[in-house]
Amino acid sequence: MQKILNYINGEYIEPLSMSWLDNYNPSNGEAYSLIADSNSDDVEKAYQAAKEAFPKWSNTTIEERSRILIKIADLIEDNLESLAKAEAKDNGKPLSLALAVDIPRGSANFRFFGNAITQFASEAHESVGLNTINYTLRQPIGVVGCISPWNLPLYLFTWKIAPAIAAGNTVVAKPSEITPMTAFLLGEICTEAGLPKGVLNIVHGTGPSAGQAIVAHPGIKAISFTGGTKTGEHIARAAAPMFKKLSLELGGKNPNIIFADCNYEDMLKETLRSSYANQGQICLCGSRIYVEKSIYGKFKNDFVSEVKKLKVGNPFDEDTNLGALVSKPHLEKVESYIQLAEKEGGKILCGGKRVTVKGLENGYYLEPTVIEVYDNNCRVNQEEIFGPVVTIMPFEKEEEALEMANSVKYGLSATLWTNDLNRTMRISKGLESGIVWVNTWLKRDLRTPFGGMKASGVGREGGFEALKFFTEQKNVCIKYQGFD
Ligand code: NAD
Repeated sequence: MQKILNYINGEYIEPLSMSWLDNYNPSNGEAYSLIADSNSDDVEKAYQAAKEAFPKWSNTTIEERSRILIKIADLIEDNLESLAKAEAKDNGKPLSLALAVDIPRGSANFRFFGNAITQFASEAHESVGLNTINYTLRQPIGVVGCISPWNLPLYLFTWKIAPAIAAGNTVVAKPSEITPMTAFLLGEICTEAGLPKGVLNIVHGTGPSAGQAIVAHPGIKAISFTGGTKTGEHIARAAAPMFKKLSLELGGKNPNIIFADCNYEDMLKETLRSSYANQGQICLCGSRIYVEKSIYGKFKNDFVSEVKKLKVGNPFDEDTNLGALVSKPHLEKVESYIQLAEKEGGKILCGGKRVTVKGLENGYYLEPTVIEVYDNNCRVNQEEIFGPVVTIMPFEKEEEALEMANSVKYGLSATLWTNDLNRTMRISKGLESGIVWVNTWLKRDLRTPFGGMKASGVGREGGFEALKFFTEQKNVCIKYQGFD
């Protein structure tokens, strides 16, 4: 079986423990490769390589760093098809999605930060009358840790690594042990692009072992983490005594607020996409749909009829809309919420059952599911399910919609459908959410800040925010002799 090796100091190596984890293909439930089950010794080895590489890399010119990042972006593009196939096999997502979104975004992340770093300048302030000039340096932190989840494997892994190395840091990174394949392939691409040895070190393995070792390492000065809220809590607690710089991008339970005056057809199409893209396994998916009462009945009928048309199937088939969920335990977790919905008095309007795909009978397939709920505070409507399951509920007044939208512990993203400008302004301002989309969903400009409020996280990624996170500021104040 193929082995997914660590990438340390520019070389693929086996874990020191020689212990391995099975890596599953969610579309057929079969183990198809072995993942390095790394521990703190492997993290130490990766750290030493990163530490050694830091002085030279942090002194490499911005132009050279930029050139290498853009070369990595080009090579990801050149390998689009093979990377997309690897991603679809490892994650269960439709190949069409990996080709159109995941892999191009991996490339875009390197290209964007390769360019952004050339515009990221230190600032200077002259204090007139004091005969001083202040200049504020932005210096790389040193060795930083990047830990990413399974839902958008290459996309989110590179979203952290690219700004970290662009800013002159060296990295110890860990992708999810559930979807390690494209991160594994990235090592080779970085070598080919001429990234110096030790600048990027990729350690595979579980959260409690390899992940925890990165967080606990006293020499790793900052951690950029994307994953579940519970894990984020754990990381924040572990990192606090060392005062590590932390960026935490966590879970969501995002509202979709639909008013009768919206462009109905656009809304219907985009709501479908925001509910089930990547099998609903995107932190930004709209999983609570609130609809103004006057169009609630129509929306319910139209939405359910559109959902029933979606095809669940082999991720490699062109007409597949939803592929497999990422793992068996995750499938069971999502199903448990569907059962809970019924116990809580919700009504399953469609879906809710496993799907058997011909020839892939052991894959983890689930029907896209719509649940009508009658109590905004029921658990199905409050907790993150992270699968192809949405709830719907009517509302009468704008204030009520806003209150329900803000009623959960999360605050990652929200989508609003209306053509009323005043209402757009009022609701956007009132939403406890790091990202608000109006009359669209998931349009991303990489220059804009990305992140959540409340239990959805701390800090912002994207644009200069990410470069700020991966640098330390130092103000230097110089007194000069004036004429008097
Ligand atoms: P997870 O928290 O289980 O794992 C994420 C990563 O953390 C994995 O690499 C895992 O191995 C590692 N990890 C686990 N325990 C650890 C520990 N104790 N110390 C260090 N590392 C540890 O999350 P997941 O199931 O992979 O991903 C799904 C979650 O991620 C969902 O909650 C989703 O909303 C969230 N997510 C958030 C965003 C965002 O931008 N806010 C984006 C994508 C996914």
